[in-house]
Amino acid sequence: MNALAATNRNFRHAARILGLDSKLERSLLIPFREIKVECTIPKDDGSLVTYVGFRVQHDNARGPMKGGIRYHPEVDLDEVNALAQLMTWKTAVADIPYGGAKGGIGCSPRDLSKSELERLTRVFTQKIHDLIGIHADVPAPDMGTNAQDLGGSLGREAATGRGVVFATEALLAEHGKSIKNMTFVIQGFGNVGSWAAKLIHERGGKVIAVSDITGAIRNPNGINIPELLQHKESTGSLKEFQGGDSMNPDELLILECDVLIPCALGGVLNRDNAADVKAKFIIEAANHPTDPEADEILSKKGVVILPDIYANAGGVTVSYFEWVQNIQGFMWDEDKVNSELQKYMTRAFRNIKNMCQVHDCNLRMGAFTLGVNRVARATILRGWEA
Ligand code: NAD
Repeated sequence: MNALAATNRNFRHAARILGLDSKLERSLLIPFREIKVECTIPKDDGSLVTYVGFRVQHDNARGPMKGGIRYHPEVDLDEVNALAQLMTWKTAVADIPYGGAKGGIGCSPRDLSKSELERLTRVFTQKIHDLIGIHADVPAPDMGTNAQDLGGSLGREAATGRGVVFATEALLAEHGKSIKNMTFVIQGFGNVGSWAAKLIHERGGKVIAVSDITGAIRNPNGINIPELLQHKESTGSLKEFQGGDSMNPDELLILECDVLIPCALGGVLNRDNAADVKAKFIIEAANHPTDPEADEILSKKGVVILPDIYANAGGVTVSYFEWVQNIQGFMWDEDKVNSELQKYMTRAFRNIKNMCQVHDCNLRMGAFTLGVNRVARATILRGWEA
């Protein structure tokens, strides 16, 4: 099932639990606007190449639309639509005054030079800039992109990984546990995965396996994450790291561990591997890492899944703090950013648990019903009529 079908299915399930009016349900599902642009740029060798870029603006009932821009070869309109919709529910779960959007360009950023990436970003921005802006639609970095802007907030780079760790702490505390001495497996060692690994390591958690596009490594005694970060920084890869053994990346997701944190691509947990997953907790740091079939298999096995629309909301939450600081021209120190982030993540977890109790549902449906209900309410208050 592709990401859009899976996201729609989760939304419909939540709408049924909430008893939403069927016309309102339909209108919440339809995106506000879909933009497709062709971006032609000169390569460094003088030849021309064209990439297709998308921006989907899903909903603005609760505020300006908000979402990252992803550079990846598998970007397509369906995926961007699914991720834009997830942003709508995510910003509502975090209770920040935003709607949802997402963008992407179908390209392989690793194969483009820095100047080619800059040309591509400029052409894409030029083509969509009439439709974005601080009160309309606020883009952000996502997979394959990074921040190089003026006026950025302290703590933004670490925010998604830090939010993942706050979310993990909230979940484990509910089960009478803490990060210290628990074992973690992390797929993806980019922005989110590396920050999550670093913060887990600092809290005494044992990260026993890590992977990225270059390979996977394991160390049952716990990987020294600061050393791995240094190795990655100097070589650009996880390969040949002396503090662990290399392993088959496909086996990483099914390793024996307490907590599995997918921080790379969508759909990595599916019907082919779900039955073999041995983790007790899954924290969805990536967007849509678990497809619905895997969700069902894992739930039956008793695996507790913390859903993406909550677990990775730390990034958009600090993007919201960044927006507030820029509008006010008043910059916060990093401690304030981090402590506010912790407040938002902890409050959202309590709100989700409350929905789980009211509707007798799992954490994914707790988060979806929370987000969908808030957006539905805002839509009605804005004067929606069937
Ligand atoms: P990134 O580009 O910095 O890192 C992605 C990582 O995944 C890299 O280490 C890459 O090597 C690895 N990867 C790619 N293909 C892989 C594969 N087949 N197997 C193993 N690893 C693979 O991206 P990021 O910003 O860290 O985003 C990761 C995920 O988190 C994405 O799903 C993204 O949508 C989600 N997310 C990111 C943010 C954010 O603020 N960066 C916010 C919310 C959600």
